[in-house]
Amino acid sequence: MEKDSKLEENELCAASHLALDIGGSLLKMVYFTRNSSRSFDQEADGSSMNGLTTSNDDLHHSLLDGRLHFYRIETSKISECIDFISSKLLQRSGHQCNGASIDDKNIIKATGGGAFKFTNLFKEKLGATLDKVDEMDSLVSGANCLLKTVHQEAFTYIEGRKEYVQIDQKDLYPYLLVNIGSGVSMIKVDGNTKFQRVSGTSIGGGTFWGLGKLLTKCKSFDELLELSREGNNRVIDMLVGDIYGGMDYSKIGLTSTAIASSFGKPVSDSKELQDYKSEDIARSLLRMISNNIGQIAYLNALQFGLKRIFFGGFFIRGHPYTMDTISVAVDFWSKGEAKAMFLRHEGFLGAMGAFLSYEKSGLPDAAQQLLQ
Ligand code: ADP
Repeated sequence: MEKDSKLEENELCAASHLALDIGGSLLKMVYFTRNSSRSFDQEADGSSMNGLTTSNDDLHHSLLDGRLHFYRIETSKISECIDFISSKLLQRSGHQCNGASIDDKNIIKATGGGAFKFTNLFKEKLGATLDKVDEMDSLVSGANCLLKTVHQEAFTYIEGRKEYVQIDQKDLYPYLLVNIGSGVSMIKVDGNTKFQRVSGTSIGGGTFWGLGKLLTKCKSFDELLELSREGNNRVIDMLVGDIYGGMDYSKIGLTSTAIASSFGKPVSDSKELQDYKSEDIARSLLRMISNNIGQIAYLNALQFGLKRIFFGGFFIRGHPYTMDTISVAVDFWSKGEAKAMFLRHEGFLGAMGAFLSYEKSGLPDAAQQLLQ
């Protein structure tokens, strides 16, 4: 399990309100612990999603009593997650903790397709009931909560520069939420619980990882992402200059370096797959998918008159080239009118929303503050 912080034994005793988002690729987990003397932002580490800080002083004060934990693991390793829950979070007879349990009735809030797919597994292995929370509801409520309460949740990323965006709680809506998971959902958000999934594309994070796995020898998503840092997409993509003998097609605003056709170069090369460097393939793939999503997102924002576009989902993984490509696509197609914004808790929106659905069944006081 990749985790935000080391779970101390005394914190285990107070773990509560476990929520899961079991997606096509990754399982995300959020839970609350009391009794931690540390604030949310200690041990902050971008790669591990820690650092839930807020701009609200009262909230920050209340949360000194507790801590939200964010974990993720590949869905294919769900048994490791079940072992983790079983050994660390579930109430066990003879255990020293007072009242340490996910829930007295072993109910776990769960969203994502896996909440349906793995119902029996959780029942068999943990005796736990997955209380299903709708995926889109969770995504939206998670995003709204994070955007409203977490200081420095949203940021732009332009030419390697990250700039945090101040969100005015009273002026958040409407916006377009683009969640790039295995697939991509585009949701027009008009209010706390008012939204519509207006579009999406099946060419998303799963496509990048799936195609990347087939075309390179990468064994993990991180390896593929890392490889893309070293690559040169011009070896794989057909550029305007390749077609126009090195010249721009300036009449319609295309420079010679603009991509005319992603993965178009091999058409005229007499090369086999093994003649291409994996780095270059990874780079072109990442660029193609990020560019495409950025373009579709902008067209939807345009169609629905939305000025703000927030991108989330674990495809992004805070990767500079991914964010840069999406930002450039939005900037290019909007002629500089729109800016892409990214979320610090990018892949945890759904899990956060499922966690917040405990509201009705009594979140701890400190976590309740998140909802205000
Ligand atoms: P889902 O709910 O569909 O699993 P996520 O927001 O969790 O969606 O994003 C899944 C995507 O994140 C994958 O398709 C892949 O592109 C990317 N990803 C990031 N880290 C990993 C990882 N460690 N293993 C697999 N995919 C990963």
